[in-house]
Amino acid sequence: MQVKLLHDLVEEMAGEGTGRIVEILFRKKDVNEFLIAKKMELTINQVRNILYKLSADNLVSFIRKKDKRKGWYIYYWTLDAEKCLAKLESSLIGKIASLEGALGSRETKRFYVCKSCDIEVGEEKALEHGFSCEECADIYELSDNTKPIREVKMKIARIKKNLDLIHGELEVVRKKSETSRKRAESKLDKEKKEKTDLIKTARAVARKNIADSKKEEKKVVKKVVKKVVKKVVKKVVKKVVKKAGGEKSLSLANKLKKKLSGTK
Ligand SMILES: [Zn+2]
Repeated sequence: MQVKLLHDLVEEMAGEGTGRIVEILFRKKDVNEFLIAKKMELTINQVRNILYKLSADNLVSFIRKKDKRKGWYIYYWTLDAEKCLAKLESSLIGKIASLEGALGSRETKRFYVCKSCDIEVGEEKALEHGFSCEECADIYELSDNTKPIREVKMKIARIKKNLDLIHGELEVVRKKSETSRKRAESKLDKEKKEKTDLIKTARAVARKNIADSKKEEKKVVKKVVKKVVKKVVKKVVKKVVKKAGGEKSLSLANKLKKKLSGTK
């Protein structure tokens, strides 16, 4: 991480002297806010103000834990490397754009300077005042754009170099978070599959149980029917035997019994 660049960015966002917080949080996780305050020699409220400004752009995140003894919450802060790099990227792109705008007007427009007041104005303003200084009435001289053009070009080149560094780091960080995101996703998929498999198995077991109990039911019904039939047959045979009497009738009854027992 370009700590120096981030330091400057934090100062732009949260005010002069606040950039030190970057060095304190860099490469650390869940830093106690009281520790930050101590290191920066600021009050806890001043530190929180800085951190709230940074968290508005998600450059920092926090967790909070209740202090068991004192009963209040303590916040623990972590820099978000990816968000910091992305914010740096957009800030540098913005700076390049505005410098390129300035360069464009230096290359295409005329500027005038009052050498006694060291004030420079654009052509429109110079024309407005009849090419004499607003302050001292001296005659404006045409500015030499060579030096400012060279300076702006150098600035742009320097920022572009930093932007390249940021792009490189951002790529690494994004690849890393993509990998961990995919890992978490596949873990989730695995858990999901395990869950559906479990449900499938449970359903299959339930279905089998139902089928088994139906089969059992059928068996019981068959048994009962058989019993009833047997009883009825016995009764009928008894009646026939009683009515007819003798062996002849008995054999007839047996025949009847056999026949009736055959029916299921
Ligand atoms: Zn002047």
